Amino acid sequence: MKPQLIQLLKMAYTAERQTELFSNYTHTLSLIDAAPKPLGNQVELICVSKLKPASDIKALYDKGIRHFGENYVQELVAKSKELPQDIKWHFIGGLQTNKCKDLTKIPNLWSAQTVDSLKKCKKFEESRAKDGGDTIKVFLQINTSGEEQKSGLSPQSEELAEIVEYLQQCKHVEYEGLMTIGSFDHSHTEGEENPDFTALSNLKKQLDAKYGFQSKLSMGMSSDYEQAITQGANYVRVGTDIFGSRN
Ligand SMILES: *Cc1c(COP(=O)(O)O)cnc(C)c1O
Repeated sequence: MKPQLIQLLKMAYTAERQTELFSNYTHTLSLIDAAPKPLGNQVELICVSKLKPASDIKALYDKGIRHFGENYVQELVAKSKELPQDIKWHFIGGLQTNKCKDLTKIPNLWSAQTVDSLKKCKKFEESRAKDGGDTIKVFLQINTSGEEQKSGLSPQSEELAEIVEYLQQCKHVEYEGLMTIGSFDHSHTEGEENPDFTALSNLKKQLDAKYGFQSKLSMGMSSDYEQAITQGANYVRVGTDIFGSRN
């Protein structure tokens, strides 16, 4: 294991750090509660703990928090082995098909949010069947901004329907909804609808109408989660505002 990774696995935290983290968390929650939102919408706050030590996660865990998001397969695998088994892990990082089988070995992997191909869905279904564990909730990542360097399916992709229909027959993975990472510019324009969130919400409406779903939307990070909530987010992924900046 790389030294940086071993460093991330230390578990002891100070009371001061726990107080700081929990205060950041409750502050974030209060802003989430206060944000205007579509009637009846519930919002789950995912604490994005990538590159932060397991001790930070344990500090929040000991305050009753369970939803955490990670971006790197190796780091998530290592942390999940050290930390309590009732954590609900969300994988939100760049995903290669050949890494799906490493993720399915995490019995308490709760969701995979960066799924963008039928091939990856098939890998998840096949290897989860072998490994056992909770049903993995799949979010399809949509490249709503059309930026070339962003991964995700185009909202017009024909593969979308194929994937959604495939997931309906699966036993070990299930369709949960759509995920996007808004473009930097869109998330830093004040006082308007964010076009990435509008695009995701429109795609949700199409899919829900066609299949009778109630797709969930994962959108919004530290810089734009209140706007995302107003535009219909069900999951927000917040790192910096809770844990502080990353190296
Ligand atoms: C890192 C990351 C986040 C959290 O970002 P912050 O700006 O630190 O809140 C959310 N979503 C994804 C996909 C990320 O990679």
